Amino acid sequence: MTKQSEMEPSFDTIFEFITMGMALISLDGQWLRLNRSLCDMLGYSETELLTTNIKALLEPAQQGHFLSAYEKLQVGTLTDYQLNMRIQHKNLAMMCVDWRMSVVRDSDYEPQAFLVQVKEISEQSEMERKLAESEQRYKSLIEHNPAGILTCDIQGRILGANPAMERILGYSKDELHLQLIHHLFQPKDPNLVQAEGMHLRNDNYMLKFQQANGEIIELGVKNVPIIVNGEWDGVYLIAKDITQFNRDRESLRIAQQDLHDTVRRQQGMTLKFRKINGNYVHTLCDGELLYRLGYKPSHILGKTLYEIWPTMLATSIEAYYHRAWNGEENVMFESTFRGITYITSLRPIMENERMIEVIGSCVNITERKQMEIELRETKELLESVINNTSDAISVLDLNARVISVNAAHEHIFGWSQEELMGRTLPIYPSYLENERKEMYEQLRLGKQISGKESVRLRKDGRLIHVSITKTPIKNEKGEIFGFAAITRDITERNQTEELLRKSDKLAVAGQLAAGLAHEIRNPLTSLRGFLQLLQHDMKDKKHYFDIMLSELDRINFIVSEFLVIAKPEAITYKKSSLETILQSVIALLDTQAVLCNVELLLEFQSEIPEITCSEMHLKQLFINLIKNAMEAISKDGQIKMIVSLHGEDLIRVRTQDNGSGIPEDRMKQLGEPFYTTKEKGTGLGLMMCFKIVEAHRGTMSIESQVGYGTTIDVYLPTDKNEPNLDT
Ligand code: ADP
Ligand code: MG
Repeated sequence: MTKQSEMEPSFDTIFEFITMGMALISLDGQWLRLNRSLCDMLGYSETELLTTNIKALLEPAQQGHFLSAYEKLQVGTLTDYQLNMRIQHKNLAMMCVDWRMSVVRDSDYEPQAFLVQVKEISEQSEMERKLAESEQRYKSLIEHNPAGILTCDIQGRILGANPAMERILGYSKDELHLQLIHHLFQPKDPNLVQAEGMHLRNDNYMLKFQQANGEIIELGVKNVPIIVNGEWDGVYLIAKDITQFNRDRESLRIAQQDLHDTVRRQQGMTLKFRKINGNYVHTLCDGELLYRLGYKPSHILGKTLYEIWPTMLATSIEAYYHRAWNGEENVMFESTFRGITYITSLRPIMENERMIEVIGSCVNITERKQMEIELRETKELLESVINNTSDAISVLDLNARVISVNAAHEHIFGWSQEELMGRTLPIYPSYLENERKEMYEQLRLGKQISGKESVRLRKDGRLIHVSITKTPIKNEKGEIFGFAAITRDITERNQTEELLRKSDKLAVAGQLAAGLAHEIRNPLTSLRGFLQLLQHDMKDKKHYFDIMLSELDRINFIVSEFLVIAKPEAITYKKSSLETILQSVIALLDTQAVLCNVELLLEFQSEIPEITCSEMHLKQLFINLIKNAMEAISKDGQIKMIVSLHGEDLIRVRTQDNGSGIPEDRMKQLGEPFYTTKEKGTGLGLMMCFKIVEAHRGTMSIESQVGYGTTIDVYLPTDKNEPNLDT
């Protein structure tokens, strides 16, 4: 033991000569002993330092800390204690020291004193300063980072949060301190629960977080591991509020979806195609029409025309695609597939003068097409009815100018549609001007005229009897914009009616004539003979005989006229000149005309060909007409005979007088046998005229106005169409 103690330096020696400051402090905190190094370190002599209070050496801020450690050592809750402390040098400079204290115990393990070791650590603190500075830099990076940063330990406990994170989460860093990260992100909504251990993920991920105010935000998160001395020490959670970004992305998605839905739900169809390796490939196709055609977008997308349609259809469509791809605007075409007809219009889309794609929009026109067909059929039907009816139909504008007339109109009136176009209808006899005006007045008031009977003028001058129905034509607003007229030619009907009526009387007259003519003529002949004999003997009574003879002649004349009626077959025809016939009639009546003070004129407006006729009967016809005219003129009148050619088929002989005229209500009776207004009339003249004209296949019309005169037109056919009329 002794030997050993001799060899080893004693505690006192070590205490005295060690370069580290050492001291013993009593349990109540008084210096017991100090070594030289400590005195030198603090600049005091041993005696000076022994009288200095330990507490007085310490920086005031550290005094409390020191005392609590001291107390813990005293009660034994702490066996040794190390502290970096700042203490004051005698020259008042502060110095940094490593202060270690441990308890010195006796053999009974009772504490006896504290052993203090003090080491100056100024160099070390300089390094710490640098460390602190770099720590500040790194802290500033975190503090001012616009991204939210949470610092966690490896268990996921939050150690810190930067201001950006405080803002994002709505909690202060003190509130967050030491919370488990997966608890923090486990809000009330169970859908928002995040898995434990999320802070260890190394991908980018999204979190939903319910802020202190209850609002839910979305965060985009990236974990960055904290590695200290090659060891994983903790995690930075770097988070960004991507709520707005997500909202924008969502509205973009909704807009895209909306566009897609619009394209899909449209009634038609929209498509796009591009040319890829020489083929037109569809890049879009949707819309209701597509489904109606029996396809789905998947049947079309990425496919060429030939992969979709039957070859014939594909080839024809390809030609149009080709034109659009070559830049032609407004390429349109019609296709029919499975009974559906649709129109496609193509629109090329260029970018920097390069063809990008072609957009096509398709419209289903099946119904429209069907309607068009029906409309056309209806129109055709209507037109065919209009053009095939025997009634004349004319459509006039508000000024009564012709818009159109049908075929029957041309046929009945003789004017072609071209001639009438834009003109007023030239079918009113001049004396019916009032009727015309009145009719249009009624129509303009919106009234309809139906079944009105009247007469109208043909192009060839002939009058025809018509039944007229006229209606105003209104537009959808009810405004009148024109008139339609349906005119039925009832001349024939009237003529037949009249003929029937007249032929009744004629038959009676005919039978009477046939039966009585000879019976009457024979006694008349003998009566005349005896009268002539007696005349010789009774010369003084001459004027009685004259009267008796003229009366007998008159009876004879009437009977002869009867005979003409009764035996029309007796007429013989031969080619004769109408001019010669008329000249001789005029010559015959001229003297009588002069006596009556009537001017008798004959006018040929064109060269008149010879016609096949009965000369004797035509003479009789014109004599009758002229005599009637002369009888209608009381004095100083004029009778004009005008002969003209109407086309190649008809000759018109007009007899015009300026006599008394015939009242309208009597017109119908003209030509009836025994209808006369004259005291000495027979009422057979006109009837014979009709008979003769009819026998020559002609027509006769009478126009008259009371007080102005009468015009009688006789139309006789030329021989052009009937060269072998001789019978
Ligand atoms: P009549 O001359 O013997 O009376 P018609 O048959 O020749 O018999 O004529 C019948 C009637 O027709 C006449 O009574 C007359 O009232 C009328 N009439 C015929 N021609 C004319 C005429 N040119 N002007 C006026 N009235 C006429
Ligand atoms: Mg007469």
